[in-house]
Amino acid sequence: MKLTQRIQSVSPSATIGITTRAKQMLSEGHDVVSFAAGEPDFDTPDFIKRDTKTALDAGDTKYVPKQGKALLQAIAAKLRDENGLSVEPEQIAMTFGGKHGLFCAFQVLLEAGEKVLIPTPYWNSYPEQVKLAGGEPVALPTSPETGMKITPEQLRRAADDARVLLLNSPSNPAGVTYTPEELKALADVVLETDLIVFSDEIYEKLVFGDNKFVSFASLDERLPERTLTFNGLSKTFAMTGWRLGWVAGPSDAIGAIRRLMSHMTTNPVSFCQAGALAAYTDPAAAEVVERMRTEFERRGRHMTERLNAIEGVECATPGGAFYCFPDVSSHYGRTIGDVQVGDSLSFAKAALEQVGIALIPGCAFGEDRCVRLTFATGMDQINDGLDRLEKLLS
Ligand code: PMP
Ligand code: GLU
Repeated sequence: MKLTQRIQSVSPSATIGITTRAKQMLSEGHDVVSFAAGEPDFDTPDFIKRDTKTALDAGDTKYVPKQGKALLQAIAAKLRDENGLSVEPEQIAMTFGGKHGLFCAFQVLLEAGEKVLIPTPYWNSYPEQVKLAGGEPVALPTSPETGMKITPEQLRRAADDARVLLLNSPSNPAGVTYTPEELKALADVVLETDLIVFSDEIYEKLVFGDNKFVSFASLDERLPERTLTFNGLSKTFAMTGWRLGWVAGPSDAIGAIRRLMSHMTTNPVSFCQAGALAAYTDPAAAEVVERMRTEFERRGRHMTERLNAIEGVECATPGGAFYCFPDVSSHYGRTIGDVQVGDSLSFAKAALEQVGIALIPGCAFGEDRCVRLTFATGMDQINDGLDRLEKLLS
């Protein structure tokens, strides 16, 4: 069948593809350690499941004609209390995961050919979503010297003919976490231009050490009218399978996203919204989230140390999220086992075929020198996988 140009221009998601492959290999009895999906290994907290089951038992199983009011109010209260943002419930749309929120936002805000500035390394779905909306992704390259962060000068140079700046802090795949001052300096440049900002704050609660999280739109009173803030429950509450995200921003943009969804998916699953309400209102939430954060931080520190102890591997300490993104390029040019390793793709292939570890090649994130390993997995897995990587590269 003849496919559209739109879909032909899009590659499949490497993160989803490699994760699926690793799961399949495991189910077939292969000995694989998966560092692929950025997905908490913790189960969804009990109090969230409890309220979801109650909603199910009470017959909350029909179409949700409107977005759940109590949930939108709870998210508005969260944005006010935790993020310093004053947002009405009408300025929030619940979506099927953060991924869907971003997808919808590109659809309603990008005209054909409009440019979206995406700092590298970036989450692999951003450029593909931009292309699906008819826009043009423009990579803003970063370097280790700037801590893999874009600079205000770089943004000023690129801003002229672009429509959207995409920010993701803490970031996937490198855990890059901008300081409030760095974000403010970027905000000052944004305010000199016509750019709008998509701030993907999905890793908000996963911030380590002295790093601090701040919502981009809270940095200047003129920012809320040109910022869309994306978030969701997948990472914070270990709810990846529930497909719950949300986007907050100006009412016209949010209204348009809701209009699009009314023809696309209707509203997120009825009883899952009851679980989301529990996540944002139950007094038990803060402690559970903090417990997971502390554990991710401990694993991340350990993984970084072990990676740096391997010959020819260099890894910056992630400031947040749950990924290490080491530079392994000094091994390019070698033959490992029977694999000629020349780039991140062949490196990942050698890792999977020779020692059974699944990692994501950096080329999927616009940085071919690196590969991504998630530490959203248990310590035993981490140690087993890193023993194998050490063996592979020795
Ligand atoms: N943004 C980033 C940076 C991510 O890593 C992810 C991971 N899935 C998402 C958005 C979307 O997550 P979800 O659709 O599960 O909410
Ligand atoms: N965002 C996670 C990751 O990068 C989950 C997979 C996906 O949605 O891409 O691994």
